[in-house]
Amino acid sequence: RERKILISACLMGENVKYDGGNNALHVKMLEAWKEQGVLVPLCPEVLGGLSVPRPPCEVLEGTNTVVCKSGEDVSEAFAKGARESLKIAQEEGVCMAILKARSPSCGKDVIYDGTFTSTRVNDSGITCKLLRENGIAVFSEEELALAEAFWRQKG
Ligand code: SF4
Repeated sequence: RERKILISACLMGENVKYDGGNNALHVKMLEAWKEQGVLVPLCPEVLGGLSVPRPPCEVLEGTNTVVCKSGEDVSEAFAKGARESLKIAQEEGVCMAILKARSPSCGKDVIYDGTFTSTRVNDSGITCKLLRENGIAVFSEEELALAEAFWRQKG
């Protein structure tokens, strides 16, 4: 039975962000899920072989091409990170994911446009897209109430 929740590792306080920091969320629901052993934390960019810290990257609007601010094309690392994340999700029996908003890997429905000007577009990060294409429901950390309702309904 599919009963696990994939979560962006940076939301669990792991220092895997491009700048070496994290996006730790201190909320009761996450603590409870953690205690129940249902969370599967991972960082697609680290799984793709990128280092911490690393240059900030964005998806070029409307493509699966990912570039660093320096101009380097890191599409292959992002694609690998997405594949590895999906593999782990499938092995662990993940039915839903809570992913960091606006990340070029994890972002759901809104990301930046590839111009490094803080311009948002309606698209999702590379890993978010692959998980969804494979039937995993994705929520951002800004939608925890929805995520909780989905989890309860699945239970
Ligand atoms: Fe967090 Fe996802 Fe970025 Fe990794 S790739 S640091 S998990 S937002």
